[in-house]
Amino acid sequence: MMRYALVTGGSRGIGRAICEKLAGEGFRLLINYRSDDAAAEETLLRVREAGSDGELLKFDVADARATRTALAAWSDAHPDAYIEVVVNNAGIRRDNLMVWLPEEDWSAVLNISLGGFFNVTQPLLQPMLTHRRGRIINIVSLSGLKGLPGQTNYSAAKGGVIAATKALSQEVARRGVTVNAIAPGFISTDMTADLEEKELKKQIPAGRFGKPEEVAALAAFLASDSAAYITGEVISINGGLY
Ligand code: NDP
Repeated sequence: MMRYALVTGGSRGIGRAICEKLAGEGFRLLINYRSDDAAAEETLLRVREAGSDGELLKFDVADARATRTALAAWSDAHPDAYIEVVVNNAGIRRDNLMVWLPEEDWSAVLNISLGGFFNVTQPLLQPMLTHRRGRIINIVSLSGLKGLPGQTNYSAAKGGVIAATKALSQEVARRGVTVNAIAPGFISTDMTADLEEKELKKQIPAGRFGKPEEVAALAAFLASDSAAYITGEVISINGGLY
């Protein structure tokens, strides 16, 4: 039977690297994204180069109805299959000190990271429970563990997903479904392209930003059979920056 993995925000950055890695592990990829069609096509190309196949699923994870519709359409088109692995990776940053933070930047970040986690994961749970096998992997952040100034919105969103990871893991463990979070530090992607890497890396014990492929390797491990007894965990991947 074909095994399917859905990666939200799979068109670029960390999400793209996870798509490539899971393709190499034999999964069929459902590549979600919101706007950048060309980048999503490039990810699909790389999934094929890695020896698997996939399809693009374009929807905004913050839009509950659009998400439900897209996932239901996929299920209808694949009546004998289910999504065994979901990587909740779609996310944005809208940094500002809270004293200047507009309400829309608070909501946008919460709605995509925390709302998106719910919108995407909720409809996938029942099939995972029925098949007694599932992997839910949430990409959070160091910011959600320690809180970072200028990121009250982002820290709140990621912290919320961390708490939900721990709660949900206890609801579904008996049915062979694991729920874990990955908390990266600074990873070189479009999201961090505007940061002062030369200055910031001085604070990182490893002396460099991480690579998307390094996060992808951890995601693939958590998706594997070998990780069946790891659940409710938050694993940092940050070069020693806490
Ligand atoms: P990028 O900005 O490089 O990529 C973001 C991806 O998310 C794109 O594929 C984008 O698609 C997609 N996306 C954004 N909003 C939505 C939405 N509403 N619905 C569906 N897809 C969406 O980010 P990174 O790869 O750097 O980050 C990936 C995840 O890792 C995020 O959750 C981020 O918070 C987290 N993270 C990143 C760190 C870093 O240093 N880079 C550190 C810690 C955590 P499109 O282009 O089509 O909008």
